[in-house]
Amino acid sequence: MPHTAAPDRYASMTYVRSGRSGLLLPRISLGLWNNFGTTRGWETQRALVTHAFDRGITHFDLANNYGPPPGAAETAFGQIIGSDLKAYRDEIIVSTKAGYQMWDGPYGDWGSRKSMLASLDQSLQRTGLDYVDVFYSHRPDPETPIEETMGALATAVRQGKALYVGVSNYDADQMRAAVAALRAENIPLTIHQPRYNIFDRKPEHRLLDTIAEFGVGCIVFSPLAGGLLTDRYLQGVPADSRAAEGRWMTTSDISEVYLANARALTDLAQARGQTLSQLALAWVLRRPEVTSALVGASSTAQLDQNLAALESLEITAAELAVIDDHSHR
Ligand code: NDP
Repeated sequence: MPHTAAPDRYASMTYVRSGRSGLLLPRISLGLWNNFGTTRGWETQRALVTHAFDRGITHFDLANNYGPPPGAAETAFGQIIGSDLKAYRDEIIVSTKAGYQMWDGPYGDWGSRKSMLASLDQSLQRTGLDYVDVFYSHRPDPETPIEETMGALATAVRQGKALYVGVSNYDADQMRAAVAALRAENIPLTIHQPRYNIFDRKPEHRLLDTIAEFGVGCIVFSPLAGGLLTDRYLQGVPADSRAAEGRWMTTSDISEVYLANARALTDLAQARGQTLSQLALAWVLRRPEVTSALVGASSTAQLDQNLAALESLEITAAELAVIDDHSHR
């Protein structure tokens, strides 16, 4: 039976414009990097996407290489949208990216026109979609002229295969160059996707200012530091967690310094009537430049807990000072 979306799905989510564009994004978006491959059962993957949509999450973030194995997340998402959410395509924003190693040979990686446009065609094929809403350059390519990479994004828009374009993992100067190259194509940069969380504050140095200067939207990835800014590791390392399974994190990340800071942040969160993950999300969303927090989740319960962050987003100066004291691990 195809899923029937909840009639009240727009009752509690807030939508914010991505920079100066017309694109409204939910304050919390769902990423499909880590939990949409062979590491999760099909019903869990399906439940995560349909439940997210039922809770007002209209934006799903993919990349060519998400899985494992690479490509599996797009294939899974394509099946879910094809069987359960087909009727709702116009209510959904699908993002994908190209720029990391994807296929063998000299054209399956980085940011050449050849790689970017071939990858987008593969993404459309895997998802079964006619177009994606946002197509990103996943990372800057030091060997390819920025005009070529941005030209490929512009071509994707002109071909009707993408509606908006974005960059990810670009620093402030790289983003400035991307904006200029896109302007020459008459295509605006709609969104930037940097990593930003309490333990990784690099964007505060120059990037967020540059994002504001150009009126670009900003969706921050790993706002929970892959699970470190949650209660996941406070009582040991659960067998099904990212650290135990070695998915881009290991048990060595659960150090004494980390635990001391995570516990102090948890105390602060509890004093606010929140969990650590809710405080971590409120913290990234406090910045006016941040359009959306892009979370991952391995269960719908995690997702629900994270969504409840939106009920209490205000953070006082005194609370920010406590967070500053514990923003390292
Ligand atoms: P998060 O920081 O949100 O980490 C998600 C993980 O944290 C979950 O898989 C889960 O770990 C744990 N978690 C989440 N909520 C809770 C909770 N309430 N309680 C306990 N544990 C919780 O983000 P990700 O690192 O997953 O990144 C999010 C998305 O950002 C990706 O899916 C992708 O779309 C994008 N991304 C983009 C990158 C880029 O280069 N542009 C790079 C990385 C990510 P567990 O699985 O152990 O249960």
